[in-house]
Amino acid sequence: MPKTLKIEELLKNGSTEWNRLRKAGTVSTDHTGATFENLFSANTDLSGLVLVGSEWDRCDLSKVTFRDTDLSNAYFHGGRLQDCDFRGANLDGATFERLKLLRCDFSGAQGLDSLELDDVDMDRVHGLDGEEAPPPPPPPVHGTTSFTREQRQATVAALAGSSGDEPPPFQPQDPPGTLLFRALRRLGSTPPWVLDAPGLRPPLPTRLPPGAGLESLLREAVKQRLEGSRPVTDPDAVKRAQTALRLGSKEAPFAVMYLREVGVEPAFRFSAANALRELLRAELEVDDLTGAVDPRVAGAMWELRLAHNAEEALGEVRRRLAATQLFEALLEAGFTPENNWDEAVESHEAALDLVAMAVGDDRQALGEAFSTYAGLPEEARLRRLAYLAESATHLEQLARLPAGTEPAWLHGPEFRECHDREMLTLQAFPATEVPKRVPELAQTELGIPAGTVPEDSEGDLFIHLRCAVCGKEKLLVQSPEEGS
Ligand SMILES: [Zn+2]
Repeated sequence: MPKTLKIEELLKNGSTEWNRLRKAGTVSTDHTGATFENLFSANTDLSGLVLVGSEWDRCDLSKVTFRDTDLSNAYFHGGRLQDCDFRGANLDGATFERLKLLRCDFSGAQGLDSLELDDVDMDRVHGLDGEEAPPPPPPPVHGTTSFTREQRQATVAALAGSSGDEPPPFQPQDPPGTLLFRALRRLGSTPPWVLDAPGLRPPLPTRLPPGAGLESLLREAVKQRLEGSRPVTDPDAVKRAQTALRLGSKEAPFAVMYLREVGVEPAFRFSAANALRELLRAELEVDDLTGAVDPRVAGAMWELRLAHNAEEALGEVRRRLAATQLFEALLEAGFTPENNWDEAVESHEAALDLVAMAVGDDRQALGEAFSTYAGLPEEARLRRLAYLAESATHLEQLARLPAGTEPAWLHGPEFRECHDREMLTLQAFPATEVPKRVPELAQTELGIPAGTVPEDSEGDLFIHLRCAVCGKEKLLVQSPEEGS
């Protein structure tokens, strides 16, 4: 029976359940000496209870009602109380120590004369008669060397802003770049992969591991650009990049992005399209709510304007980004899958928005994904966040291109080449426009009598190409069923 559960257990199970039991009158009102540690609780009704001598260690309470509650000799240490209602409460002999009070109301509370406030940070607190916490003792005038150990620790903690052992607040409203920035600062090092997400303006790694692959060259070029210098164009690397595009190799995404950094036009587009789509598809197929999507792949698709299916990809990446952003904000604030993180989510509008975007109302899927995510090493987690955020930006640009920008041209790159490069696409149009647009070319290339509409070509797409070197023109036909 839930009646036998202590208040500590009940509150851990969430405020909804607690408030329901209270309404039903099935929990006792006397909880003298109850002890709470690291409790996060929001919207909880603790009014009128007897919580004499209760202890609240590093608790995070939001919109909790202590109205007319007996908190005499209670001890609050660490944590933060936000929008809590202490009206009419008995605080005789109670102590608030090293915590933050934000928008709490103490109007009409009793025993305030003997309420002890020690190192309390107060912001818009009502009803304490404007009493501020006594200022901390001034630091000794001597140099650091004459400090005792305790004095030094106290000074360092004061300089750091607050009591150092407290986790930062829950901030799911912060954009991915901000979360990443704070996390890298905590991590104390900047891994080279941050250069794969330059759009987030990450802190830069001081030194990159040497490497001759296109990926290393790309990172080096990105670093140079972000540092404000011009990337050095390496003719050999440009040649290798163009070859990777022509072959549609695994290095194609790095090749496209490298050429972009050094300002060289990619000479091949269609031959790389299949490889890029395949790489993107493989990542989107992974059944993992926080699975990364490589921003070099998404970025290459944007650079080559391969807009086909961009909207679907964007939807999935946004979903994953929302989940990853939420999980990272939770972990930053000290919420793990083992404690009452649901409570934190419920108390925050931005968190609920992210939940809706990530899983709709499938909370079980959310919990499972959070467990998986929290089990990853921190650097791997941050990489997912950065990659998803950067990929989302590329795919958003791609999805904004007008419909029909890129028909499903997926085959036949070999028919498009002339002078060691792909011919430029001049125009694409349906059969009915052939006589008007390319009457002569249709005759010479495809044997269609000038001025006539090609037969049995409904739904086909005619693509008009020209070699940028010799000026030769070409007309290709693509039938819808040949694409995929
Ligand atoms: Zn040519």
